[in-house]
Amino acid sequence: MSTRTAAADSDRVLNDICDAPGLDGRKRFDHIIVGAGILGSWTAYHLASRGKYVLLLDQFPLPHSRGSSMGQSRGIELASTDENWIPLLMESYPLWRQLEEETGENLFEYHDLLIITEVAGGWPVPQIDNLLQSFRTRAARRVLDPDQVRKYYPDLHFNNTTAGFVDGSGGILLAAKILNALRGRITAMNGVIKDQCQVMRIDAGPPASVLCRGHANTFTADSVIVTAGPWTSKMLKRVGLDVKIQSSLGAHMYFPAREGASIADISFIHYDTEKRFRAWTHPVVEYPGLVKLGIGLWIPVDPDHRDQDDPYRMREAGIEYVKEHLGCLNQTMAIYETCMYYHIEDKRHIVSIHPFYDNVVVGAAAGSGFKISPVLGKALADLATKRRPALDVSSFSLDRFTDRSNQYYLEKYNGFIVIRPLRDEAKNAFVVNNDSALLWNPKFLETFDNHFRRLRLLKSY
Ligand SMILES: Cc1cc2nc3c(=O)[nH]c(=O)nc-3n(C[C@H](O)[C@H](O)[C@H](O)COP(=O)(O)OP(=O)(O)OC[C@H]3O[C@@H](n4cnc5c(N)ncnc54)[C@H](O)[C@@H]3O)c2cc1C
Repeated sequence: MSTRTAAADSDRVLNDICDAPGLDGRKRFDHIIVGAGILGSWTAYHLASRGKYVLLLDQFPLPHSRGSSMGQSRGIELASTDENWIPLLMESYPLWRQLEEETGENLFEYHDLLIITEVAGGWPVPQIDNLLQSFRTRAARRVLDPDQVRKYYPDLHFNNTTAGFVDGSGGILLAAKILNALRGRITAMNGVIKDQCQVMRIDAGPPASVLCRGHANTFTADSVIVTAGPWTSKMLKRVGLDVKIQSSLGAHMYFPAREGASIADISFIHYDTEKRFRAWTHPVVEYPGLVKLGIGLWIPVDPDHRDQDDPYRMREAGIEYVKEHLGCLNQTMAIYETCMYYHIEDKRHIVSIHPFYDNVVVGAAAGSGFKISPVLGKALADLATKRRPALDVSSFSLDRFTDRSNQYYLEKYNGFIVIRPLRDEAKNAFVVNNDSALLWNPKFLETFDNHFRRLRLLKSY
């Protein structure tokens, strides 16, 4: 019988990791990034390119198909229904090109994007106004009236009041190749990538440290950046924040293109403003002869139990959509892949320093964030290195979720943990040392239980 203990085992695992190429036996980094999806990878890339020693961690073996960045393609376009996205998009295009140049790989292809939407007596919803505005100012190649839509795209079936735009800035990002290219660049710049390291605990320190499942020891760094995608809510609870980020099941569906199909070489988005629904297709770039379809039907799920819900709902909705609108596709679905999506409750990104710990940085993209990940990653790298981001990220701050009247922060002071309310510091501050608590204000005693319950949410030491 083996006499080796679990702790000895995990020490051995950690030592193995520390002996891995690139780690030089060191466990101390400048920055640790938790989550190696597209956002964490761009953040690690920007930090490594500034000469920082980075550790990029992921819970699953890389590459994997369980995060939001899975799959082969993502769409990019300048025409956005949200005005605030335009500057982010404008800054992202050159960074995609830069990555291509550095790696010598084809990672981004221009394909015209056709956008179709209903026009019943003007523009029915403000988002469509924004869209039209972004066309007028930046992206429009052509605006098509309903007759022109029918004439140029006879194999698409929409009602008489549907008009369209063709966006010349539309393109396809080759997602899986991009992630691979970024990983190559990060390691080439002395960064370390470790998969199968599920971060279970983050200690703000300083220095900040993370503990992975099954490891007895910790990795430490000047700062930790959390980019955990659909798992962000779960991760943030470990650093004392309760932020509602909804993760949902989505699907990529592939249908054979018929001979001469009008959307075989262009991207396509349909905003059904009546049903408040969005569907999109990508041209044939991934699998020979197949057009990819996505529909805006998201089923809320726990990312750790992703396929608990019946995915056939989406499959059926996809087939119905093709039957109704896309005569250019064969209705027999060829491939069906489920995937994870996540949304932030107020539909704004998170690019923020933790409200209580200035060495914990958090990043999350609201909705379709692949296309703007280069610039969000850059801003996260700025925050981690205490630089002011060139981009105005004030509206992406975590402060918007924090009711400071009920929040406490922890400080280490002479071996004690000092717990202070964010408001009215002197009145209610108290210290704890392991399981004893010395209250500085007797009034606090009455409500200690309540407070302690909250503190347990906040604690990360
Ligand atoms: C079907 C679909 C279509 C989309 N289409 C587009 C599009 O056309 N254009 C566009 O721009 N965007 C699109 N998006 C959105 C875009 O893909 C996402 O916004 C983006 O990929 C989010 O990346 P991320 O890095 O934040 O998250 P993820 O890719 O999910 O990365 C998070 C990573 O964190 C890891 N992680 C989580 N918890 C831990 C832990 N405790 N320890 C270690 N690692 C952890 C996870 O394993 C994961 O790898 C689409 C998304 C989907 C699902």
